[in-house]
Amino acid sequence: LKRQININYSDAFWVQVILPLAVPQLYTYQVPIEFHEQIKPGIRVEVPLRRKHYAAIVYNKVVPDLSFTPKAIIGIIDQEQLVTETQLQLWTWMSKYYCCSLGEVMSVAMPRGLKLNSETKILLNPYNEDSFTQPTKTKEYVIHKALQQKDELTLKEIQNLLGQKSVYKLVNQLIEKRLIYVKEELSETYKPKVKDYIILSELWYDPDLREEAFALVSRSQKQTATLEEIFLLSESQKEIPKALLYENLDINNTIIKALEKKGLIEIVKKEINRIYVEDAEISPEVPELTEIQQKALASIETQFKTQNVVLFHGVTGSGKTQVYIEMIRKCVEDGGQVLYLLPEIALTTQMLIRMQNAFGKAVLFFHSRMSLHEQVEVWQRVLNGHAIVLGARSSLLLPFQNLNLIIVDEEHDNSFKQQDPNPRYNARDVAIYAAKIYEAKTLLGTATPSLESIYNKFEKKYGYLFVSERFGDAVLPKIELIKRVEHKKPSKKQPALFSSELLEAIQKCVERKEQVILFQNRRGFAPRLMCFVCGWNMECPNCDVSLTTHKFSQEMRCHYCGYRSAITKSCPSCGNKEISLIGFGTEKVETQLNDLFPTYRIARMDHDTMRRKDSLPQLIHEMQTRQIDILIGTQMVTKGLDFKHVTLVGILDADALFQFPDFRAGEKAFQLLTQVSGRAGRNVKPGKVLIQTYDPDHWIIQYILANDYTNFARRELAERKSFKYPPFYRMIAIEVKHKLRTVAHDAANLMAHKLSQKLGKRVLGPAIPAVARIRNMYIMNILLKLEKKSQFMVQVKDFILKTKDEIKAKEGFASVRVNIDVDPL
Ligand code: ADP
Ligand code: ZN
Ligand code: ZN
Repeated sequence: LKRQININYSDAFWVQVILPLAVPQLYTYQVPIEFHEQIKPGIRVEVPLRRKHYAAIVYNKVVPDLSFTPKAIIGIIDQEQLVTETQLQLWTWMSKYYCCSLGEVMSVAMPRGLKLNSETKILLNPYNEDSFTQPTKTKEYVIHKALQQKDELTLKEIQNLLGQKSVYKLVNQLIEKRLIYVKEELSETYKPKVKDYIILSELWYDPDLREEAFALVSRSQKQTATLEEIFLLSESQKEIPKALLYENLDINNTIIKALEKKGLIEIVKKEINRIYVEDAEISPEVPELTEIQQKALASIETQFKTQNVVLFHGVTGSGKTQVYIEMIRKCVEDGGQVLYLLPEIALTTQMLIRMQNAFGKAVLFFHSRMSLHEQVEVWQRVLNGHAIVLGARSSLLLPFQNLNLIIVDEEHDNSFKQQDPNPRYNARDVAIYAAKIYEAKTLLGTATPSLESIYNKFEKKYGYLFVSERFGDAVLPKIELIKRVEHKKPSKKQPALFSSELLEAIQKCVERKEQVILFQNRRGFAPRLMCFVCGWNMECPNCDVSLTTHKFSQEMRCHYCGYRSAITKSCPSCGNKEISLIGFGTEKVETQLNDLFPTYRIARMDHDTMRRKDSLPQLIHEMQTRQIDILIGTQMVTKGLDFKHVTLVGILDADALFQFPDFRAGEKAFQLLTQVSGRAGRNVKPGKVLIQTYDPDHWIIQYILANDYTNFARRELAERKSFKYPPFYRMIAIEVKHKLRTVAHDAANLMAHKLSQKLGKRVLGPAIPAVARIRNMYIMNILLKLEKKSQFMVQVKDFILKTKDEIKAKEGFASVRVNIDVDPL
C-alpha cells in the first residue's frame, strides 16, 4: 500500500518485456522516470523476477492499470535496439503459429551471450586482458582484479562486489569489448579456437644483428633454416602462423621452442574467429555462368517480378550454388542483405570456402559450432547491416535491417525443423513468412523438392524452374538395381549385406583409383542383441527400445537417451552363450569391408565418428585428397558433399527406407536415394549407383530409376489427398508425457476426449507410439488433421492451448508435459 501511494498514475509508464523463459505471458514493469527517454521496444533492460535478475527485451508500452503495482526496471542495458521491430513482429507470429511463448522464441533467437541473468557466469578473455582500463578504483578495474583471483564470477557476485543493484550494462560493455566471456558449459564445441603465431623478437629486426642471430643457431641446420624462413616471412607479416612454418619446412615444435629459448622469437596465442574460415585459400577468380545457368538466373529474376517464392528444382550437381552466388552478388550490389540458409550438416568447410571465395569477408557464417561470443559478434554485425549471412536454421532469427533475399538450399531437408524444445519451427516455412514482412524474396533450392513445395508449384503459388542436366560434362549417374537374396549361410567371403555384384564393383572402382560411398542408414554395429533360445532382447532401462551394439567402443548404447552398458557375453535370462547380433549398422559394414579388403582405406561418417568438432572437416579433407577409398555413412553422406573422384555409390539396404510407419516414408526414401546417388560422378568421370533391394519392382524405386520426381510426386500427392494428409490438410501433433504410465494415459485420454468434443473426427488417438517410453517418460500421441483455413486454425490453436491448461490444472496432472507440434515432421 505504501508503494502505491508513491506512484503518480498520470506519469506512470509501464512496459511489457519478454523474458527468455518458457512462461506463457509477458511481464509488466514500471519504468522509472530517469529511463523514460531511453526506453523503446527491442532494447534490453535489467529486471528483477522472483529472486533473480534477468536481461529482458522491451516488447511494448502498456496502459497502467490500477489493479496492481509492478516492480520497477533496474537498468537499461542497450542504447540502441538490439532486436528490431520486424524481428519482434516475426517472433510474435512464430509464437502464435507454433503455439509457444515469446520467451521460448527469444530463447532460440538470441545467442546466449546476450541473455544474461543472475546465474550467468563470466570469465576473463585471456587473449585480450591487456585492454582493461588501467586507472585503479574504476569498476572495470575491480572486476578485472576479481576475475584474476577467481576464475569465474556470476552476475550476482558482481552485483555484490560492486555494491550496486544494476550491473548488466557494465557487464555488457565488457562483453562487447571482448574483455570478458560468458561462460559456456559445453566444453569442446565452444572453446575459443586458438592458434600459435611466431613473432621475431624486437631486437632482431635490426639488420646489423643478423649475423649474431644466425650465430646462435649455427649448430643446427634445421634451426638455421627455420630462422631464415622467419626472417623472410617477417618482411611481409609480423605474426607468422606456426602452421605455415610447418607447411613450408620439415620441422616440429622442438625447433620452434629452441628458437624461443634463445630469445630469437616469441610465440603468441591468438584467438581465431570462426565467423570466417581463416587461412582459406582464396581464389578470387569467379567462374562464369554457363548458358544454362544464365537462363536459370534470368528465369528466377523474371518470376520474382510476380512471385514471392520461386522453387529452383535442379538435379544434383546442376550448378545451383553458382546461380545463388550470382543472385547474392546482384542483391548486395543493390544494397540489400541476403540470408543463405543450409541444413547445419551441409555447412561444411567446402561450402564455407566456396562462399568466401566469392564474397570474401562480406559473408558471415552462423552455426552452432561457433562460440557464444562469435554468435554475438555476428548478431551485432547483421544489426549494423552486414551484407551476407550463410547459416543454419536459427540464422533466420538474426536482426536483419534490409533483408532482400532468402535462399533456402536443400529446402526438403527435415533438419530445418526444430524438433525439441519449443519453438518447434520449420525454418523453411518461417523463411517464407519472414520474407513477407521483410518484403524480401525467397528462393527454395533442391534436387528433390518437398511435397509441400512441389504442391505449391502445382497450385501456382510458387514460381518454378527445373534444370535437368548436370554442370559441364558431368552426367547423372547410372542407377542399377541388385536384387538381394537371402544367403543360406553368410560367410566371411560373402557376408549377408553384400551382393557379389556390389563387391566386384567396389573392387573395380578402387582399382581404378576412384572412390566409393556406401550408404547404410543405421549407425552402430548391430541394432539388436538377441537370444535365439528364449527370445530375450537387450533393452534400454529408460526407454522402450533395443540397445544398439557398438563394437569399436565395446558397449551397447541407447540412441534415444544415451544410456550405455557393457556387451553381454551370454543371455542374462537363460544363460545361453550363443546370443546373436541382429541387423546391420555402419560399424558392421566397416568391419566386414575391412575383412574383405584389408588393404583398402576405409572410413566411416556417422554421429559416432563425427562427435568431435574437427572430425568432419578432417574427413572431408581426406576424401578430397584421396586418402580414403571407401566412405561408409548414414544420412550424413547424402548432404551436399562434392567429391570429384567418387564414381560408385552403393545403397546397402534400400528396403529399410520404405518400411518406416510414416506417411512421409516414401517421400523421404526418394529424397535420400536421389541425394546419395547425386554424390557419384560429379566430375568428368561418369558415376554409377548400385541399389540393393529385395523388392526391385517397388513403385518408388521404379520412379527413382526413371529419375522422375514429378510423376512420383503426383502419385504420392493423390494418396495424401485421399488420406487427408499434408499438404492438403494441416497436422498438429500433441505429445503427452509423464513418469507414470497411468497418468500419461489418463491425461492423454482426457485431452483427446475434450478435443474431440469440439473437433470430432479430426482428432486421432491417443495412441502409444512405436517407442512408448523415452528417458523414463511414458508417451502418448494425439494427432489432429485440420482443414487449411487460417481463421479456423487460429481458433483450433487457442482451443488446444486452453485445453492444455485445463488438463494441467486437474489434480494429479500438474507435472504432465504436453508438447504441441504444429506441422510435425
Ligand atoms: P548443385 O548445387 O546444383 O549440386 P554445384 O553448384 O555444387 O551444384 O555444382 C556442381 C559442380 O560444378 C561444382 O563442383 C561446381 O564448382 C561446378 N560448377 C558449377 N557451375 C560452374 C561454373 N559456372 N563454372 C565452373 N564450375 C562450375
Ligand atoms: Zn534409452
Ligand atoms: Zn536366452
